[in-house]
Amino acid sequence: MTSVVIVGSGFTGFECARRLARRLRRSDVDVTIISPVDYMLYTPLLPDVAGGVVDPRFVTIPLAGTLNGVRKVRGRVDSADLEQHRLQFTDLEQRSCELTWDRLVLTPGSVTRLFSIPGLAQYARGLKSTAEALYLRDHVLKQLELSCLEHDAQLARARRTIVVVGASYSGTELAVQLRALADAAAQQMSFDASNVKFVLLDLAEQVMPEVGEKLGARAMRVLRRRGVDVRLGLTLNEVHPDHVVLSDDSRIDTRTVAWVTGVTAAPLIQTLGLPTEKGRLKVQTDFGVPGHPDVFAAGDAAAVPDVTQPGKITPPTAQHAIRQGKVLGDNVAASLGHGKKRQYKHRNLGLVVDLGPHKAVANPLGVPLSGYPAKFVTRAYHLYAIPRGVNRWAVALAYLTDVFFPRTLVSLGLSTQSDAEFSTSEGIPLPKTD
Ligand SMILES: Cc1cc2nc3c(=O)[nH]c(=O)nc-3n(C[C@H](O)[C@H](O)[C@H](O)COP(=O)(O)OP(=O)(O)OC[C@H]3O[C@@H](n4cnc5c(N)ncnc54)[C@H](O)[C@@H]3O)c2cc1C
Repeated sequence: MTSVVIVGSGFTGFECARRLARRLRRSDVDVTIISPVDYMLYTPLLPDVAGGVVDPRFVTIPLAGTLNGVRKVRGRVDSADLEQHRLQFTDLEQRSCELTWDRLVLTPGSVTRLFSIPGLAQYARGLKSTAEALYLRDHVLKQLELSCLEHDAQLARARRTIVVVGASYSGTELAVQLRALADAAAQQMSFDASNVKFVLLDLAEQVMPEVGEKLGARAMRVLRRRGVDVRLGLTLNEVHPDHVVLSDDSRIDTRTVAWVTGVTAAPLIQTLGLPTEKGRLKVQTDFGVPGHPDVFAAGDAAAVPDVTQPGKITPPTAQHAIRQGKVLGDNVAASLGHGKKRQYKHRNLGLVVDLGPHKAVANPLGVPLSGYPAKFVTRAYHLYAIPRGVNRWAVALAYLTDVFFPRTLVSLGLSTQSDAEFSTSEGIPLPKTD
């Protein structure tokens, strides 16, 4: 029997598996998807999870029941032998296992990009997994609760100071969602919301350069009105358990540092010894890996040429990942004699950015929107893009609940500080610290 192995169950791997299952339904091809998790994560709503608007289960699309006809294997691939057509993976019980393949599809996506900033990996947390989003929500609530009982004024201030690094769309969305969570906490726990300080840092000179100058300026106004202290041209030099030092040598006392500065290809890509561009695996416009006709890659992990902008590669966005997954499925099927290969071509359709209660900015098809129209488009887009009816239903109800009721403030303690470490939650190998 011929076998196709898909590595990773993110947007790209999920869509590819779905397409392959449909195309190869009546063939003798065995399709396997291998991933450390048994779901596809709808990452654009992670800021809503951190802010307590949406339950984490609503943003996870189970592979069981959605990928019928596809064998699911839980595990993290450690290495792949492209000559022998074998891959090694570690299963859920830390056993080393092996799989063989006739076609290998690499869609392991990306992980948070870390820099060698002292204390960063130890004390900061990212926003790329449900563990991290849940941890941030619980941690912020815990710090606010503790601050109410604190006798030491300086320590109370530190507990009420939240630093978010990265003012692209995900960092900005996180800052405003945590702000809304803190405002709800202030109301329900009876303290002054203006005592909770948010600092949003970025090395760039503009927030959300992805949406252009005009919408970036509008987002900046929303942030300022919400009391978020935006500091541009700055990053972190040091992270400590109780403070950070910025690149201008200033110090902020804080117990909460969220690091959302961008992503880099999954560590697996570096182990392959194949050419990369900006850390992403080089592929052709049909997702074939040059020199390896049986290996394909796409999504955040791959440097896919953007045929609409010669010389550039497609940005690491869900918009591309979903569409690439579909074409990838068709092309892998074509390599097995089912249909014809085609090159990937997609023009950017714009971006939607949720800026918390009543606010958003969006540029669908290049039309700049803000305020309620943008909010409507943003929420409608997510409800359309979530690839499962039950999840759409649950998220729609969560949105409605958020309109009519105050946010529910509970820390369930489901994700501990160590669960949310970059190494545990994202699989980033980190050097041991003393
Ligand atoms: C907070 C946040 C908000 C975002 N918001 C937006 C947005 O609004 N709009 C937008 O267009 N994009 C957004 N993005 C970007 C978008 O999420 C990514 O571009 C998209 O997830 C890429 O899909 P992917 O399938 O390539 O990778 P991923 O979604 O990263 O999935 C990779 C999969 O591979 C698995 N995997 C990793 N390593 C291995 C391994 N060694 N072995 C087996 N499996 C492995 C992972 O567990 C995961 O299942 C956002 C990202 C984040 C983090």
